[in-house]
Amino acid sequence: MEQVTDRIYTETKVRGCNPSFVLTSKGPVVIDTPQLPTKAVAMRKAVEEHGAIQYVINTEHHVDHIFGNYWFKGAGPIIHHQGVHERFMTVFPELDPFEYALEALPTDDPDGAALVPDRETYYANMGTADIVFSGDVTLKVGDRTFNLLHTPGHTPGQVAVYVPEERAVFTGDTIFSECTTWLMTSDVDQWITALDRIRALDIDHVIPGHGPVQTKEYLATQRSFMLEWKAAVAVAVAKGWSREETIARVNFAERYPVDIGQEYMMDYIQERNAAALYDKFTAPTATTYPAKEPPKR
Ligand SMILES: [Zn+2]
Repeated sequence: MEQVTDRIYTETKVRGCNPSFVLTSKGPVVIDTPQLPTKAVAMRKAVEEHGAIQYVINTEHHVDHIFGNYWFKGAGPIIHHQGVHERFMTVFPELDPFEYALEALPTDDPDGAALVPDRETYYANMGTADIVFSGDVTLKVGDRTFNLLHTPGHTPGQVAVYVPEERAVFTGDTIFSECTTWLMTSDVDQWITALDRIRALDIDHVIPGHGPVQTKEYLATQRSFMLEWKAAVAVAVAKGWSREETIARVNFAERYPVDIGQEYMMDYIQERNAAALYDKFTAPTATTYPAKEPPKR
């Protein structure tokens, strides 16, 4: 793993999110778990060499941030936002997270298949939270502070983890660093507000959900890219382009590659991003996240 500060380690070079940990005088705190099973097992072992894990924090409910929790069971309390808890490994019409995680194994983690139990066993032991919160929460762990800031937008339960002593923030997918942004299931306006909130922090290190570690300046880059997506689709709607025409013509595939292991998904991401914004801008009433509860597991 890459060392960011004396106390912070992250992994930016395998398929899945950037799982990370922070050392404190009491023991390490894990932020997001690896999607690939062999990486999850290896990370737990590496982290526990620094002492007993104090907490496992999840920044969002997307499968690449939580699937590895199964292999962290018993390694300290798992904590995440109510919005993560409500959607934890939930099957949605467009995505079955368990199936999606398994799809990555033949290409990205062939040895991992043997570590994954059957669906029922997985769901019974998947490592959902011991502690669920709403709003913000602060954890004091030994000589370090973890401010879990509710920064919805990319997902409803999104948190940024601000560690002031390290002048660092873990943003989850509020930042896609130098890789393409998935915004199709997101509230882009809330996301822009989230970036403003993070920008107000006193930080030097930005550990993103995907892609390389950045300095504070990258927050402005991500924010402007969100505005650029919005503007491009708004122009399409204003010019009277159809949904199909908008999807065909508004495309940022040239700007950034897709993060590791998902290169084949570029067209899908671009199309869904454009379609989601088009639908939002042409909806008969303003929309945000659906008010109704997501389907249950
Ligand atoms: Zn995500």
